[in-house]
Amino acid sequence: MLKRKLEFETILEIIKTSEKIVITSHKSPDGDSLGSSLSLFRFIKKINPQVVVCHPDRASAAFQWLEDVQYIQLYKEHKEEVIKSIQESDLIFCLDYNSFDRLGEEFGEIVQNSKANKILIDHHQNPTISASVAISETSIASTSELIFELIEQSGNGEFLDQDIARYIYLGIMTDTGSFRFPSVSARTHEIASKLLNTGLAHAHIHESIFDVNSLDRIKLKSYAIVEKLEVLKDSPIGIITLENAELNQFNYQKGDTEGLVNTILSIENIMVAALFIEAEDGIKISFRSKGKYFVNELASVYFNGGGHKYAAGGFSSESILQTKDRFKAIIESGFYNFE
Ligand code: 5GP
Ligand code: MN
Repeated sequence: MLKRKLEFETILEIIKTSEKIVITSHKSPDGDSLGSSLSLFRFIKKINPQVVVCHPDRASAAFQWLEDVQYIQLYKEHKEEVIKSIQESDLIFCLDYNSFDRLGEEFGEIVQNSKANKILIDHHQNPTISASVAISETSIASTSELIFELIEQSGNGEFLDQDIARYIYLGIMTDTGSFRFPSVSARTHEIASKLLNTGLAHAHIHESIFDVNSLDRIKLKSYAIVEKLEVLKDSPIGIITLENAELNQFNYQKGDTEGLVNTILSIENIMVAALFIEAEDGIKISFRSKGKYFVNELASVYFNGGGHKYAAGGFSSESILQTKDRFKAIIESGFYNFE
């Protein structure tokens, strides 16, 4: 088990003595950023009511069933409100991200320049955030698991109620691919057991995330696989690009391509999967890999991004075809040594 009791106790003291607390997490929130933000929000509210969650942008439709998403202040939609919250805060939690640019340029600078005390709780490699307390644990599967450790190891296990448990379960479930990635430990299951003991309707969480496909979404994913999947001739790599016009054909909503890059990786003999999606402001890139092939460096060195060894992402301002061609050129120049 993670041994950071002293730091968790320190965090508890800081929570108790702070006047106004803001919880932040990264752009395009996923289950773990929402799960960690909202479980911490619920936990802190029991100790100190002066707490708000400020995120860069709105969660996709898949997460709108979560009771507390309505309370999240969104920088993209209500800048003034968020700026005020940051200005008034004396404590900012940085959850599930390792550098301020993950908040987007503007919001990232505002948080970085804030004089508030900062506490980092994260599981990505190479954190660049200077914080008064940093819980940066790259071997832990999700930030939400770290929030559980904070609650329990700071001596507040009795505060774990079903609502907090639901958010933590959501974060663990999504960041572990439903408890199947190598990052899952015996402790992850031990924590899940404690979450279930609150009476949590765990099947409902799985269904609410994974069994809610619109017809358009299924058609878009099918189209992507049937019409757009390209498997490289000389490397075990699968690529899908989706342009704006193609997305529009299926009434694309944010989140509709979730899991598509994992589908590419699930194909026999494919070791690296790449998905390029044309967004409003450029190309959003997702990489997945397995075995001895890692994608975090590929994303950080060449595609303005980063992430974990087997799941990383990035961004490109070139056209989608230029981006794909550059990716192929990097592979052809021998970035990976496939034998
Ligand atoms: P996804 O492909 O699901 O969008 O992202 C997979 C993982 O890659 C995320 O958990 C996150 O760690 C990382 N990631 C995705 N996009 C970016 C990015 O633009 N910058 C950085 N630093 N990491 C990213
Ligand atoms: Mn995470």
